[in-house]
Amino acid sequence: MSGTEKFDIAVIGAGPAGAAAAIQAARNGASVIVFEKGAYGRDKICGDGLTPRAVGALNDLGIECSDGHFIQGLRMIANKTERQLDWPTTDRYPNYGLVWPRRRLDAALMDAAVEAGAELVYETEARPRVVVEDGTQRVIGVETDGRRIKADLTIIAAGAPGTIAKMLGAERDANEPYGLAIRSYVESPRHADAFLEACLTLKDENGESVPGYGWMFPAGDGTVNIGVGALSTMKGFKKLNLNTLLDTYRASVQESWEIGPNLERPRAWRLPMATQKRHGPGWLAIGDAAGLINPMNGEGIDYGLESGILAANLFLADVESAPQVYDQQVGERFDGFLKLGRRFSFLIGHPLILNAGLRFSVSTNSIAKITLQVMANLIDSQSPGIAGGVMKAADKTLAVSDPLLRKTRAKP
Ligand SMILES: Cc1cc2nc3c(=O)[nH]c(=O)nc-3n(C[C@H](O)[C@H](O)[C@H](O)COP(=O)(O)OP(=O)(O)OC[C@H]3O[C@@H](n4cnc5c(N)ncnc54)[C@H](O)[C@@H]3O)c2cc1C
Repeated sequence: MSGTEKFDIAVIGAGPAGAAAAIQAARNGASVIVFEKGAYGRDKICGDGLTPRAVGALNDLGIECSDGHFIQGLRMIANKTERQLDWPTTDRYPNYGLVWPRRRLDAALMDAAVEAGAELVYETEARPRVVVEDGTQRVIGVETDGRRIKADLTIIAAGAPGTIAKMLGAERDANEPYGLAIRSYVESPRHADAFLEACLTLKDENGESVPGYGWMFPAGDGTVNIGVGALSTMKGFKKLNLNTLLDTYRASVQESWEIGPNLERPRAWRLPMATQKRHGPGWLAIGDAAGLINPMNGEGIDYGLESGILAANLFLADVESAPQVYDQQVGERFDGFLKLGRRFSFLIGHPLILNAGLRFSVSTNSIAKITLQVMANLIDSQSPGIAGGVMKAADKTLAVSDPLLRKTRAKP
């Protein structure tokens, strides 16, 4: 190993979260190095769906989005009810979304990070350098098999918690729910549809209701991203076979989408929804590494982008306090909503409540619109409207029933 190199920020992981932090910090003059264990243009198991909130974050980063496929809204399906809804118009977010296959989206973000001046090192696994000072753990940079980096701030953007999280005590919080999802790509004559499609009444091979949804996300390039996701709050979650669940869902959309065979083997991955810790001296975690996934729709790209930008801004404002202030500010922005989403996921873990709730949520167009706005976290705090009121009421009710919900939770 050669000598120690010095950077302002070292980032582990070049998904949307790590790339966003690198773009924002490098553009504003910080020296940034990013380590990515995959190759340039690596894939990520994902639905590739970007809500208007995520497009808003890409706009904040000045990313040119024309390579993504334009999405006007969402088609919700619950049993025989179908509601096709445009994205809401708010002051804060654009009124369109995108489907942008991750190979291309992530490459575009990495290119922007390099253009901003960050050094990107591919096919290289990095780990934090941890020292103990006066009994306190501090991260002083990162190391790889060939390089040692000293950094004022180390940003953990390594995705769903694994080895690095274990080193830092930032593993998944075992008391909180998480998700599992699987996806593939198929060809369909409807590949250029302008609506995401979500089937909320997902059933396993025995006809039991599953809290989660099946999706058809048209990519506009001849293919559609097809997948299913489920929440850990359901009874028998550990025995759930995602491949079979996908096959069952696939059969239900076969005719309406005229789909061909899977273009690749379906692959599954975790959706972390809470971690034990997201900062410490010298480091902070963003995106999936911080458990920032919306439990109501499985969306994580936006939260990765937003937390990455926030982390960079706080570093630029004050190096030493950045981890602590980040934890507080990311909490102010997201914790209330994510906590509501986790409580909601305990609630819909009960099949009777799930079925009744679904019937209600799509019962009229107006109610379905509110459902969409709440689930996609598209409520503008300046003009919250009816959906904001509904969210506040749900928050209060679910907070009161939280102990009961946890006590009566199904055995995963
Ligand atoms: C099946 C499925 C469908 C989903 N669909 C959607 C969707 O439609 N829309 C949406 O918004 N979200 C979706 N999500 C969630 C979304 O994929 C994640 O929230 C998002 O990728 C998080 O971005 P990130 O940058 O935090 O992590 P990641 O995208 O996971 O990036 C982490 C990066 O870190 C790298 N890395 C890890 N360890 C190291 C190391 N030691 N050294 C160097 N590099 C390392 C990895 O190779 C990876 O490139 C889905 C998730 C799944 C599983």
